[in-house]
Amino acid sequence: MSTILLEGKPVAEAIYDKALKTSKALEAQGITPVVALVRVGENPADISYENSIKKNMAKGGVSAVSATLSQGTTTEKVLETIETLNQSPLVHGIMLFRPMPEHIDGEWIRHSIHPAKDVDGITDMSLGGVFTGSGIGFAPCTAQAVIEMLDYYGIELRGKKVAVVGRSLVIGKPVSMLLNDKDATVTLCHSRTPKLAEVTREADIVVLATGRAKAYGPEYFAPHQTVIDVGINNDPSTGKLCGDVDFGTVAPRVSAITPVPGGLGAVTTAVLVSHVVEAAKKAAERK
Ligand code: NDP
Repeated sequence: MSTILLEGKPVAEAIYDKALKTSKALEAQGITPVVALVRVGENPADISYENSIKKNMAKGGVSAVSATLSQGTTTEKVLETIETLNQSPLVHGIMLFRPMPEHIDGEWIRHSIHPAKDVDGITDMSLGGVFTGSGIGFAPCTAQAVIEMLDYYGIELRGKKVAVVGRSLVIGKPVSMLLNDKDATVTLCHSRTPKLAEVTREADIVVLATGRAKAYGPEYFAPHQTVIDVGINNDPSTGKLCGDVDFGTVAPRVSAITPVPGGLGAVTTAVLVSHVVEAAKKAAERK
């Protein structure tokens, strides 16, 4: 049996291409999609992520501006910054680098973003939008990326059984709802799910988002399955990136699988870019 490798790069490229076309149409109306990147302090990991986001935003015709506050800033100051960005007609999306330093009230900050600009899908309004289908806000990017990946490779969801392993607010819960919207029958599993391997083997598609390096071997899967590995973990034995799935033993035994690295990560970033473009388009339509 030859396994189909669900690579993220072509999916991401297709998303960037579409975003760029929309950006060009907006440019013709004098609008440049803009995302503001709100960072507190000089954490090197945040700075490196910020630089990579800026490069990727350019691929979709999005301009990224930094809104950086000093490490010693207050919750009030961060809220003021976000309020200014919420009010600015020139800013279409707002993204926060989290977690913020401990003295900053992250929950208040998270909820202060206007849902129309919540391109990372972190506010309760955005999550509510995923559950109600109201179209308010944006789905969390990784959850949306799972759908984009399946859609790009033509993997049917209607009438299929999907096991989602992991129930976080950024991935497991919203992706379950998005899959349900596509007429899949979803089982949402977690650390207390008994006989997990029996549940996952029953499914047509398995989505894993637990953050447990190479924890899922062949006993969790069946030959007809599509496996979406959301995990991005450090393999303690090699120091390299790896997924939740033990790719080496599982890949030859399933129908299709995403590699890590090279799978969902690139799609997630492209979805973020597309959300900014979409936010700019919706703002233009509201005018
Ligand atoms: P969380 O730690 O927030 O959630 C992990 C989930 O996994 C929890 O619901 C937990 O269950 C469940 N879980 C833990 N152990 C088990 C187990 N033994 N059996 C079944 N379920 C288990 O993680 P995130 O959702 O934030 O991230 C998950 C992974 O996705 C990480 O590797 C992260 O790096 C990666 N990630 C990838 C992205 C991408 O773009 N590809 C983006 C963001 C994250 P319980 O609720 O019962 O504790």
